[in-house]
Amino acid sequence: MQLQVSRFEGLGDAFHTRLPATPLPSPHWVGWSAEAAALLGLAPELPQDEALLQRLSGNPVPNMPDDLMPLASVYSGHQFGHWAGQLGDGRALLLGEHEGPQGRHEVQLKGAGRTPYSRGGDGRAVLRSSIREFLCSEAMHALGIPTTRALCVTGSPAPVRRETVETAAVVTRLAPSFIRFGHFEHFSHGGRHQELRQLADFVIDQFYPECRQADGNPYAALLAAVTRRSAELVAQWQAVGFCHGVLNTDNMSILGLTLDYGPFQFLDGFDPGHVCNHSDQSGRYAYSRQPNIVYWNLFCLGQALLPLLDDTQQALDALEPYKTLFPTALQRRMNDKLGLAELREGDDTLTEDLLQLLSRERTDYTIFWRRLSLAQAASADYAGQTKPSFPYSTAQPPGHAWQPVRDLFLQPDGFDSWWTRWQQRLATDAGPACDPASQLDRVSQRMLRANPRVVLRNHLGELAIRQAKAGNLSALQRLQAALARPYDEMRGSEDLADFPPDWAATISISCSS
Ligand code: AMP
Ligand code: MG
Repeated sequence: MQLQVSRFEGLGDAFHTRLPATPLPSPHWVGWSAEAAALLGLAPELPQDEALLQRLSGNPVPNMPDDLMPLASVYSGHQFGHWAGQLGDGRALLLGEHEGPQGRHEVQLKGAGRTPYSRGGDGRAVLRSSIREFLCSEAMHALGIPTTRALCVTGSPAPVRRETVETAAVVTRLAPSFIRFGHFEHFSHGGRHQELRQLADFVIDQFYPECRQADGNPYAALLAAVTRRSAELVAQWQAVGFCHGVLNTDNMSILGLTLDYGPFQFLDGFDPGHVCNHSDQSGRYAYSRQPNIVYWNLFCLGQALLPLLDDTQQALDALEPYKTLFPTALQRRMNDKLGLAELREGDDTLTEDLLQLLSRERTDYTIFWRRLSLAQAASADYAGQTKPSFPYSTAQPPGHAWQPVRDLFLQPDGFDSWWTRWQQRLATDAGPACDPASQLDRVSQRMLRANPRVVLRNHLGELAIRQAKAGNLSALQRLQAALARPYDEMRGSEDLADFPPDWAATISISCSS
């Protein structure tokens, strides 16, 4: 790995503190992502490189250039709806930047020891949460959802005290930038408008150069661009059933990436009010609230940018489109899941009525969508290579095709009539000019690419973690391989695509990590 001094470091001392990582005793490899390694141009297999193992655990290695001192950045933020003041990288250190075949990436160690921003914390991350972050970052990427990446996890026997005594680990994270909404809030709330402008200029120049070309205020254009990306991001979360768990403004990426994996969860049974974070007693970050919370967070960013804008109205104008961007982005994603190429009036009702049905019976969200896709694919097969009639007029599909999805409902009547409506909508989707047989096949292809078979359910992570704690990494590697190809019907991984066991409901995930 060829690290260079990061561009972020060039912002100057107001933005960060340079300090070495705290050494991690006796580190060993826990996980390595071939896909993230490819980003950096590194080999896919776990490296047999002691110096790299030490370095990515935060330990000193010989002949390190002095200018490559790691740094912790300072930010502030709103936590659970309240201004929390100064926060910052309390346990993350930016090692530098790596220029790879897919551009420059910041390389950050999470869990590398105390920093001036640790506020009473120990600067460490435990193996359990590090494995969760590692697996989920890469799983999200494989699902096509913007996210920070995770190159590897290293573990150590060093004890770390949480509710119980656990062991320490370090995740190596990658992103073009780890700048958060909270970085802007920090300088704005502190009245440090020069640094605020410097930060905004940096983000625009590096990541949003189009904001300068636009007429008008470039900072308003930045707010509008971040609004668009954030709306797209949360639409993808909702569509796949992902709950972030701690949507504080300091966990919001200025690049629209999923950032800071803590008590996240993929829904098992569909429950819009689901709260995945045990510490979130008011349910502020419930699944169904995420879109509004992201909007709220964007308002915080808008407020932080006010000193750079002509007037308040400019911020409001940049934020306002969220109200249509988000629902449109979500409906586009849901239409992908439904196999619909076009976006039409009434599709929202079709979707909402289905979600009501799923919610009423707490139907397993991932399995429902996958079975629906397979039912569609099976009816394509059943209809035969020489397709007799399409579109279905009565929409009563062949029994064997839709049975597995219908079986998910204790009271299938509602589903039966919804299926009919959906089939009727599908039948008119792409117009009569299409060849009916290939059209149907395209529908199921679209659905099978939009509805994953395997997601990182809590219990799957838990099983991999339990084994990893006992020194066996095979479950972790097997899960990682399945999550890397979430849309494929992979033989031998049926258990990873199955219903959660009863004990999954008893897993309690808190902010403690
Ligand atoms: P989070 O809720 O994980 O987004 O973290 C909120 C803030 O607490 C951030 O500034 C983190 O860097 C900091 N933090 C979380 N855990 C620790 C820890 N174990 N040691 C030091 N700082 C921490
Ligand atoms: Mg955080």
